[in-house]
Amino acid sequence: RNAAPAALVIFGASGDLTRRKLLPAVYNLALSRLLPGGFAVVGVARRDKPDFADSMREAVDKYSRRPLEDAVWSDLARGISYVKGDFDDDATYEALAKELDRLDQERGTRKSRVFYLAVPPDQVTAIVRGLSKSKLISPSGHDDDDRFERVVVEKPFGEDLPSARDLNRGLSAHLSESQIYRIDHYLGKETVQNLLVLRFGNTIFEPLWTRQHIERVELTVAEDIGVEGRGKFYEKVGITRDIVQNHALQLLTLVAMEPPSSWDADAVRDEKVKVLRALRPITGKAVLDHTVRAQYAAGVVRGEKVPGYREEPDVAKDSLTETYVALRAHVDNWRWSGVPFTLRTGKRLARRVAEVVLHFKPLPHGLFRGRDGDQPNALVMRLQPDEGISLRFAAKVPGSGMALRGVTMDFRYGAAFGSSTPEAYERLLLDVLRGDATLFTRSDEVEAQWRFIDPIFAGWAAEHAKVATYPAGSWGPEAADALVAPDRWRRP
Ligand code: NAP
Repeated sequence: RNAAPAALVIFGASGDLTRRKLLPAVYNLALSRLLPGGFAVVGVARRDKPDFADSMREAVDKYSRRPLEDAVWSDLARGISYVKGDFDDDATYEALAKELDRLDQERGTRKSRVFYLAVPPDQVTAIVRGLSKSKLISPSGHDDDDRFERVVVEKPFGEDLPSARDLNRGLSAHLSESQIYRIDHYLGKETVQNLLVLRFGNTIFEPLWTRQHIERVELTVAEDIGVEGRGKFYEKVGITRDIVQNHALQLLTLVAMEPPSSWDADAVRDEKVKVLRALRPITGKAVLDHTVRAQYAAGVVRGEKVPGYREEPDVAKDSLTETYVALRAHVDNWRWSGVPFTLRTGKRLARRVAEVVLHFKPLPHGLFRGRDGDQPNALVMRLQPDEGISLRFAAKVPGSGMALRGVTMDFRYGAAFGSSTPEAYERLLLDVLRGDATLFTRSDEVEAQWRFIDPIFAGWAAEHAKVATYPAGSWGPEAADALVAPDRWRRP
C-alpha cells in the first residue's frame, strides 16, 4: 500500500525528538522515494523559529543514517513550514488551519493530515482538544486513503493505570481508536518484526515454541549509559516505567502470542492483548521472590570510571528509583503454563544489548551427560546491536572419543541484507501515512500493560522491598540470580 498525500504536522517541532529522529526519518523516506506525491511538514511550537527549515537541514545532516543530498533536501524543504504558538491558545490552531489550507492548494496535501505529538505527555489532551475545537480532527473522522486525520502519540502513555485511562479518555473524546497511533519505537525495529517472521513465516520453529520444549524464555534490554544528565526526569520514572511497561512487555507479547489469523492490525493486536491478560499478576509478597529492583553504584563502564546513581546530579541521596529491574513472569495459558519468562533491564550494565533467548529443555536421556558441551539448545534473537539470530547446539569435536562442544549457527542481518537498515521511526512514520496500525499500541494493550505493572510498585511499597545495588559495568545485582536459579542469566 502506498502512502497517500498528506501534511505531517509536528507539535513540539523545536524539541529533541523532532531534531534527532523525526526529520531525519522524513528525509530518509524522501531519499528512498517513499513519501507521497503531495507532502508537507508543518512544525508547531512556542518559540520563534524563522529559520525552521534551515535548522532542520542541520539536524538531518547530523543525525541522518545516510548523507544529505542537496537535491532531495531542497525538494523536501520547499514543503517545510512553521507555525508559532502556545498549545493552549486557540489562535495557534487557527493559524495552523490556515497554513494547512495553503498547503492543500500549493502542495497537494488533499486535506489529509497526520498530527504528530512530539510533546510532553501533559500537553497531549490540550492539543487534541484544540484540534477538535478548530475542526481539524473529528471522531467520526475521515479515515480512508482519500482523506484522513490521524494522531501519533509518543510514550509515556501515563504513569500508572488511572493516568493511562485518563489519557485514553482524553484521546477518545475527540478521535476514534483507528485514528490513534501510539508509538512504541521498539516495534519499528526490523529485528523485532523479524520475530514474527521467524515464528510465523517458517515451519521449523513454531512447533518447538511451547512448554513441551522450552524451559525458560529470557529477555534482556541492557544499556551501558547512565541517566545522562536527566536525573530529574529519571527520578520520577525509573526503568520499570521507562522500559518494562512498554518495550519489554511488547517484546514478551511478540514472543508469546498465538499466530494471528491475518497480518491485520486488529488481528495482531487481539493476540498480543490476550498474552498481556494472561500474565500472572505479581502482587503483595510475590514481589519479593519474583522481582529484584536495584540501582547502580560507582563502577567502570567501557574502561571509564563512572559515579553511582545516587551521586548523579538531581538524584536524591536516599532515592529508591530503580535503574535495574529483573522479574520472573508467567503467561498462564495452554502454550506457556509452567514456563518462566525471566526479564531483566538496566542502565550502566556491561554493554548495550537487547535480546530474547529461548532456552530449550535438557535432553530426556543423558547419552552424553557430563561431557563438555552437553548444554541444552538455545535460540538467541539479538535485537541490537549486530542484529541476528543464532542457534546453539552440540557438535562432536573431531578426533577419537566422543567429546562434545557447543557451536552456533548464525544469521546476521548486516551480512545478509547490508548494514543500513531503516530506522524505527522511518518505518513507523510510513505506516501512519499508509494507515497501517499493526505496529502501534492499542488502548487496551496499554491498559493491560499497566495492569501488570501497577501491582509490582504497590508490592514494593507494601513489602518495603530492598533496592539492591550493582557496580556500574556489571551484569546487575547478585540477588537477581535467584530468579533464574539453578540456571544462570546469559552473558551476551
Ligand atoms: P522536548 O525536547 O522537551 O520538546 C518539547 C517540545 O514541546 C518543544 O518543541 C516545546 O516548544 C514544545 N512545547 C511544550 N509545551 C508547549 C506549549 N505549551 N506550547 C507550545 N509548545 C510547547 O521533548 P522531546 O525530547 O522532543 O520529547 C517529546 C516527547 O517524545 C515526550 O513525550 C518524550 O517522552 C517523547 N520521547 C522522546 C524521545 C527522545 O529521544 N527525545 C524518545 C522517546 C519518546 P518550545 O521549546 O518552543 O517551548
